Amino acid sequence: MGGSTVFLYHDDFLKYQFGAQHPFQPVRERMTLDTLQSLGALDDGAVVVPRPADMDSLLAVHLEGYIKKVRELSKRGGLLDRGDTPARPGLYEGALMAVGATLDAARGIARGDYEHAFNPAGGLHHAHPARAAGFCVFNDIAVAVRAFQREFGIGRVAVVDIDAHHGDGTQAIFYDEDVLTISLHRYGGGFFPGSGDADEIGEMEGTGSNINVPLPGGTDDNLFLHAFRSVVVPALRSYRPDVIIQQFGVDGHYKDPLADMGYTTRGYAEVAKLTHDLAHELCEGRCLVLGGGGYDLDATRRAWSTMYCVMSEASIDRERARGLHDMEAPLSDRRTADRVLDVIEEVRQRSLPLLERVIRYA
Ligand SMILES: [Zn+2]
Ligand SMILES: [Zn+2]
Repeated sequence: MGGSTVFLYHDDFLKYQFGAQHPFQPVRERMTLDTLQSLGALDDGAVVVPRPADMDSLLAVHLEGYIKKVRELSKRGGLLDRGDTPARPGLYEGALMAVGATLDAARGIARGDYEHAFNPAGGLHHAHPARAAGFCVFNDIAVAVRAFQREFGIGRVAVVDIDAHHGDGTQAIFYDEDVLTISLHRYGGGFFPGSGDADEIGEMEGTGSNINVPLPGGTDDNLFLHAFRSVVVPALRSYRPDVIIQQFGVDGHYKDPLADMGYTTRGYAEVAKLTHDLAHELCEGRCLVLGGGGYDLDATRRAWSTMYCVMSEASIDRERARGLHDMEAPLSDRRTADRVLDVIEEVRQRSLPLLERVIRYA
């Protein structure tokens, strides 16, 4: 079966939350589902109800002691990290469902049940094997990579992370492995998590297959897309993945309260199209899209719905599709633009030849 796209959703996603005043609000996932349903963008059978992650899959990435700690703290309350990721009742169940949805989507893609899948509860890229960070409890991206490798023998996996924050957990887990991890994010001035400079290129077998594009605050759509076309597109063509995982955090949206970047729904639509077309060009359409950051609920709902419509090539009413888009588009100032162009040049010179060499002599 080909040409199909599914949306993963379970009400347990709503249990993955840190309190009413916390920026992370899982209701954005429900809002995206409702938007797509009202647009008629979901075919029959397009909504897949996931199961919670199984322990073996979780243990492929996380330490048993840490998993137990999350389960216990989620019962009695407490902090999972230094302060911004508190454990609350139900968090463990919510986290298992968020990861389970990514796993089910990965397996469905690997089996060929569908080509593209979106799990809005996934993309928890700051989680490390033994610690939570930045609202991320379990790293579903890494769990999916391990499932592709172990269950299906799919070795060439590319992770493309467009969240406004560096995908530090994912980078750390695959730093010495030949899994292509690319992150485009805001960097500098103490912006969370602080890592993600261009010289973090991987080590041992992973040398060259970790690529960071550290962008300044205020980067706009045009510069973001220029970076994507100049780095991500050639890197994927060099690496030739068997599957693409895209972390589609949308906290780079100009209305987001946390990140101060300048992206709009039009930039996100173009990134979705580029990724979608590359998946068909390089890996028979296999593309797993995950959520991530997104703290302006309405912008997040519109950006994810737009991305889903592009990915699934849903034929929806043009007028209503336009209604999802931003009416304005911030522009970067000259200094920001010059800085982005310098970063792109630096990353291209450093990383692209390295990646080609890795491939040629592999
Ligand atoms: Zn397609
Ligand atoms: Zn983020």
